Amino acid sequence: MSTHLPWAIVWLRHSLRLHDNPMIQRCIQEGYRPVVLYITPSRELEIDRWGFTPLGPHRKRFLMESLVDLRSQLEEHGVNLLYLEGDVIEQLSLVSTSLTSTQSIKLYADREYAYLDQKIEAEVEAAFDITWFHAQLLTNPDDLPFSVTATPHIFSKFRGKIEKYVTIETLTEETKWSKMSQQEAALPALLQEYTKALPCDSDDTLPKDNRQAFDFRGGETAALARLNDYLWNTEYVTTYKETRNGLIGPNYSTKFSAYLSLGCLSPKLVYHEIKRFEEEVVANQSTYWVIFEVLWREFFRYVAWQHGRHLFWPGGIQHKPVKLRTNHQFDAWCKGETGQPFVDANMRELNATGFMSNRGRQNVASYLVHDLGQDWRAGAAYFEYQLLDYDPCSNYGNWNYVAGVGNDPRAGRKFNVAGQAERYDVQGEFTLLWAD
Ligand SMILES: Cc1cc2nc3c(=O)[nH]c(=O)nc-3n(C[C@H](O)[C@H](O)[C@H](O)COP(=O)(O)OP(=O)(O)OC[C@H]3O[C@@H](n4cnc5c(N)ncnc54)[C@H](O)[C@@H]3O)c2cc1C
Repeated sequence: MSTHLPWAIVWLRHSLRLHDNPMIQRCIQEGYRPVVLYITPSRELEIDRWGFTPLGPHRKRFLMESLVDLRSQLEEHGVNLLYLEGDVIEQLSLVSTSLTSTQSIKLYADREYAYLDQKIEAEVEAAFDITWFHAQLLTNPDDLPFSVTATPHIFSKFRGKIEKYVTIETLTEETKWSKMSQQEAALPALLQEYTKALPCDSDDTLPKDNRQAFDFRGGETAALARLNDYLWNTEYVTTYKETRNGLIGPNYSTKFSAYLSLGCLSPKLVYHEIKRFEEEVVANQSTYWVIFEVLWREFFRYVAWQHGRHLFWPGGIQHKPVKLRTNHQFDAWCKGETGQPFVDANMRELNATGFMSNRGRQNVASYLVHDLGQDWRAGAAYFEYQLLDYDPCSNYGNWNYVAGVGNDPRAGRKFNVAGQAERYDVQGEFTLLWAD
């Protein structure tokens, strides 16, 4: 790569990986020297109306591990990763003016689908020369047999149309790196401090709880190892449909969610690897069901895009007239002190590890809304603060659903929590594990 190549910015939002990364690939292909940025927007660091800092300690630790992993991989190619916090436009302007004073800089970035993220995109578009990519999606929106505004309200209809009419694209071709010399890679002095320590470089900041379902370690390296392990240790993926409602241990479900949310794992890679597994080993209901679940993730992205700010409103995407409240019962729920043993066990797992099974999430959400009569948005905000795998589309989409203001054709999903515990925690093992 020559010193004469102009700089360009690759702004990675939630695509923290080198595989299937069209932003980096295109930047280099078009003849630029990339500087890769990650920006934590101010909103994630400020206390919200419910009293939480959206980027809670578990996700922050996972994010930092993911960035450390990405930084070391980029360094091998002589490319810098900068970590910034604050107002997105201000941070992009700071980097852009530091890199070039004479011309407007070229940007490459991955699109997001939730309202606030899309609002930022419109502002960025007005200020910069930017090329966007749908790197977080499995499907290409241009290939859909419906427009985003006409996304089917019911998941089964959405899935049916995708399965019938859409071919999932192959992965972005590998980046043809040509390693920059130290001199070429050297950034202006002002930017160098942003390449150094990340706010949470060390692993010792959060104690690990040895009851955790899975040892979540952030980054593409760990993500690819998990994908490989889950698929090619064939008994896991081939029994997913029977085990997916489990509560304890690493292999009852894929544990891909946190990697997918930060983009350490591309959904297309998951899809094509499962297809390869089906061709080379076996295709059964379980292998299909993992793709089925990944399509839920996809569905909620289109739903978020379709409904904009309404996803976050009290009456949700149905615009239902609702009266919502919170009181001390919400605090008890957060702490895992409601007195309902199955709910409390799940909430304690979440608090200690940043993870909760899908079965657990459905039950604690239903209990908060339908048994305790609390504002579903407070529950969603608490999940945002605690979950390692938080993403606004999946989280608010699922909370809308449980609260009866979302895509569910039924009025609302009230679970009989005691009955669910009897069915899914037959021996009470899970509840006992988190009893204290
Ligand atoms: C109230 C509530 C809030 C949730 N918040 C989030 C969230 O913020 N982020 C998140 O990734 N998932 C969320 N989920 C969905 C689901 O619980 C998790 O994706 C899943 O438990 C993660 O574990 P896994 O990776 O082992 O999932 P698996 O069972 O192995 O599923 C494979 C993948 O499919 C996707 N998936 C599965 N179920 C869903 C679903 N219901 N909605 C969307 N995608 C799904 C995930 O990407 C997951 O990694 C939420 C569910 C509920 C009920």
